Amino acid sequence: MGVPARETAAQARGIDMAETAVLATEQRAPLLVAPRRGEPLDRALFRQCVHCGLCLSACPTYRVFGNELDSPRGRIFQMRWVAEGKIAPDNPHFRQHISLCLDCRACETACPSGVSYGRLVEAARGWIAPASWRERLLRRLLLGGLLTAPRALRLAAAALRVYQRSGLQRVVRATGLLDRLPGGLAALERMQPRLDGPLFSPRLPELIPAAGQRRARVGLIVGCVAGELFAGTNWATARVLARSGCEVVVPPAQRCCGALAVHAGERDLARQLARRNIAAFEAAEVDYVVVNAAGCGSTLKEYGELLERDPRWAERAHAFATKMRDASELLVELGFAPPERELRLRVTYQDACHLAHGQRIREQPRALLRAIPGLELVEMGDSDHCCGSAGVYNLVHYDVAAAILETKMRRIAETGATMVAAANPGCILQLRHGAERFGVPVEVVHPIDLLDRAYGAQRMT
Ligand code: SF4
Ligand code: SF4
Repeated sequence: MGVPARETAAQARGIDMAETAVLATEQRAPLLVAPRRGEPLDRALFRQCVHCGLCLSACPTYRVFGNELDSPRGRIFQMRWVAEGKIAPDNPHFRQHISLCLDCRACETACPSGVSYGRLVEAARGWIAPASWRERLLRRLLLGGLLTAPRALRLAAAALRVYQRSGLQRVVRATGLLDRLPGGLAALERMQPRLDGPLFSPRLPELIPAAGQRRARVGLIVGCVAGELFAGTNWATARVLARSGCEVVVPPAQRCCGALAVHAGERDLARQLARRNIAAFEAAEVDYVVVNAAGCGSTLKEYGELLERDPRWAERAHAFATKMRDASELLVELGFAPPERELRLRVTYQDACHLAHGQRIREQPRALLRAIPGLELVEMGDSDHCCGSAGVYNLVHYDVAAAILETKMRRIAETGATMVAAANPGCILQLRHGAERFGVPVEVVHPIDLLDRAYGAQRMT
């Protein structure tokens, strides 16, 4: 789809901004507000918003559209109207404005009032029923099927390698067939990463011993799609942790963390996955659980909130969440071995939204990069502005994501860096796509891959 034109007040019928004054002064209300579908929300979550508007300039969709209804404040009003039954959750305008939100949570960082925007929008997505049987089927096949089945994912990755190496990809691209594919599929084809290595990437062993004295026993989350597309980064993470004295455990019973399900409003599915992962890592008896993907880490750290109304799992979920760390976070916390190999590179760092805004982690990945001899870290402007990846957002809203990405690539080009480090697989894919589409000659890698290389690893993936 193209970038939607700026919405007029008349088009936004059913979401009348004049009601804001009434809502702003309304005080009498029950504790919970519940639309017909999905989960209730504590009214206090809405009341935290004091309508100051300080979040507006931080919001990527407000910057693109300049429309209050595509800003955090405007969306909070809309969610509140739905929660209170003033508009239906299937109102097409509501659906569109909520769908256009990247769930990047930049508004949370900007908000002086502590609004938990991520929690609000993720609940709101659960209120909206799938628009068609196709969307329902796709959700079931993808979220409930492929992403939760490691064998199927492995086969899909092997099929992708065959597609890329057999020459079929060249034919598809040369014939212009891409332009006839539905938007999401065409975007998916363009953004797929180049998969090198054997047909099936080698699996990590279940136990990687610590190098030298053991300082901690750490469980590693390998991810679902990322586990196949970024298997090399998982190997690098395990090596780097082991070098810093961690015994690394990779429980085979783990599954997808549920982040995509949470973002799609499929919270029951996310809970099933959370319970499975909690049990898998409890059985592994680890001191910490580590992940190298910012989007997954943010969801994993919020398992306590996801299962807070489940009396059998709430405490276990909370205990799991307290053990969760981003890989860079744990390395800095434990103290990592300084790398010796020199890497003469000019690198800029992209703050993944779910690391900077979702987990408030900014300094630790930079500390890893600064520790590499010879590496020059140059800051880009607006490094914590979203790149437009946001889970499957860049597939569903390709043109909006591309508009956001174009600004990001301009900021990167201004630094003169030849490499971008980003600690999230989705951002890496999006930035690689941006480098190609907008002609910016940069390589995009995970900071852990760079650290691994500085420790002497022969190749980065
Ligand atoms: S900054 Fe916070 S309180 Fe102010 S409008 Fe935005 S969400 Fe509401
Ligand atoms: S999560 Fe991001 S896109 Fe959504 S309202 Fe907040 S700042 Fe805007």
